[in-house]
Amino acid sequence: MHLGNYLGAIRNWVAMQETRDCVYGVVDYHAITTPFEPRELGSDVWDMVMDLIAVGVDPEDSAIIIQSQIPQHTELAWILSTITPISWLERVPTYKEKSEMHPDYVHLGLLSYPVLMAADILLYRADEVPVGDDQLPHLELTREIVRRFNHMFGETFSEPQAFFQRDSARIMSLSDPEKKMSKSLGPNSYIALADEPDLIRKKVRKAVTDIGPSTDAMSPGVANLFGLLKLVGGDSDHDSLMGDYEAGTLRYVDLKDATAEAIISFLEPIRNRRRELEREPEALEKAVASGRDRAGEIAVETMDTVKSRLGIR
Ligand code: AMP
Repeated sequence: MHLGNYLGAIRNWVAMQETRDCVYGVVDYHAITTPFEPRELGSDVWDMVMDLIAVGVDPEDSAIIIQSQIPQHTELAWILSTITPISWLERVPTYKEKSEMHPDYVHLGLLSYPVLMAADILLYRADEVPVGDDQLPHLELTREIVRRFNHMFGETFSEPQAFFQRDSARIMSLSDPEKKMSKSLGPNSYIALADEPDLIRKKVRKAVTDIGPSTDAMSPGVANLFGLLKLVGGDSDHDSLMGDYEAGTLRYVDLKDATAEAIISFLEPIRNRRRELEREPEALEKAVASGRDRAGEIAVETMDTVKSRLGIR
């Protein structure tokens, strides 16, 4: 998990647990739709489980699941794929983006990815899905699939609503600040929650600040560092360095150092919790087993209903 995921989305997932029954999934079947390393996938999945618990998702409260462990995800996706017109999928923006990013890896699963996502949501008959604006088209597609399913086979699913994040922030890449922070842009573009302090210092020191000819407007890289500093370090450092910026006396190295130190302190409790969890693999397995049991029960119920609507017994 990187800082963009956490600040943009996942810290709100933690807050949602207070008022809702939640299912959070580590979606390994989605992960294999873009090029991946089979030797790393297994440990990446457990790293993500560890990150979720380290940031505060409570496995006794929310169900944490690994998608491939609950076969009903792909079972429902297959059924939904038989009622989803190909033209609906071709217009999903991420299909085009990913096809351009990996022209040698364009396949049926990449096109039908949003159907699997619809299955992830509908399997648990979720009322709300926490999404960022980049994922709204996927949710809209899920709603269209619901309407079509209900029309063809009788009222079965209700349309899930978008749950918008409270002050959700979009964090930009350190190395390419016009794009959002993402693992796919390379290791210098993002800060992982598990990064050690020295690595964080190194990555922030390398962050792009000014690009192209200077203009009066603040460059995206500098704005991103200020945004990060405010989110993780609070107002005081931010406001004093912003004062320097406005006076034309800011040294970017000072902004970078302050941002790096603020990120390090902000992530420290998460890093510590992660270290404890690394020593407790049985606790992680127990958490996932409990999620699988609880979510699996709902999945079985949903599939019984869906199959009987289709006349499959
Ligand atoms: P992804 O890893 O792209 O599947 O994203 C997981 C969640 O994190 C989604 O809700 C995204 O909207 C959010 N997210 C991903 N990257 C960023 C970013 N750089 N800034 C803010 N939110 C992000």
